[in-house]
Amino acid sequence: MNGPDSLPPLREVIAAHDLSARKSLGQNFLLDLNLTGKIARQAGDLTGCDVLEIGPGPGGLTRGLLENGARRVLAIEKDARCLPALAEIAVAYPGRLNVIEGDALDINPLQHLSAPIRIAANLPYNVGTELLVRWLTPPDWPPFWQSLTLMFQREVAERIVATPGSKAYGRLALLAQWRCDARIAMHLPPGAFTPPPKVSSAVVHLTALPEPKFPANPKVLERTVARAFNQRRKMLRAALKGVAPDIEDRLIAAGIKPTDRAETVGLEQFCALARLLES
Ligand code: SAM
Repeated sequence: MNGPDSLPPLREVIAAHDLSARKSLGQNFLLDLNLTGKIARQAGDLTGCDVLEIGPGPGGLTRGLLENGARRVLAIEKDARCLPALAEIAVAYPGRLNVIEGDALDINPLQHLSAPIRIAANLPYNVGTELLVRWLTPPDWPPFWQSLTLMFQREVAERIVATPGSKAYGRLALLAQWRCDARIAMHLPPGAFTPPPKVSSAVVHLTALPEPKFPANPKVLERTVARAFNQRRKMLRAALKGVAPDIEDRLIAAGIKPTDRAETVGLEQFCALARLLES
């Protein structure tokens, strides 16, 4: 049976273009178009939006995004083998799909996109985390995108939405929740993917807030939080030793006990500490 868009089923696309999954590119494909449509709907109302998709592969999520009304999809794919399959989707949706071959970590997509912009992707874990941190830490806010709808390993998704005191709480939670509303939108078992990965996955949806919840310099906040959680079991006066000669005084001024551990300190205190460290 063809998909809702009258393009062939993804299994046929993969067979026709010989797209055997490559581990080195983190290729675990989503072949169920009902599922990719559901993920696309988690990205919000796409009508009138440009969508940046990283790693379209054979195009399951791409088709979901187009079917759900995206004005245009800009897709960046590293694997040139996927381009003919994506070209067929571009023909079915004239003028609405633009594909760039390359590494998303090296490409600045901005010149190809017009606001409002949403981002959606099912990416390999390490590339996904690196891109997420880049998207969350531009010098100015609001960013070029309105929302991020991203597939992660379940543990990474839990780190993004974690609250203080939990094991998963750390740098990702603080950076994400400082400037965004973040929630887990869907859980997916390994069997949803071809081939199935070893771990479960989850889709995280982040909406950019008009301004950060508390003022802070993004670079200083990122550095401080990274350092604080690098040795998360240590007291902060030890973990942040050498960051400033009077670190204990600054911790106290930020409302943090020097004997506290990073995992118990909230966003507001970390932002206050970042402001004190910047001055
Ligand atoms: N979106 C497709 C799906 O859901 O079936 C494919 C998902 S697969 C997990 C990840 C995709 O990202 C693959 O197509 C892979 O080739 C691509 N990819 C991996 N690293 C990339 C990078 N650095 N830049 C762009 N694409 C990348």
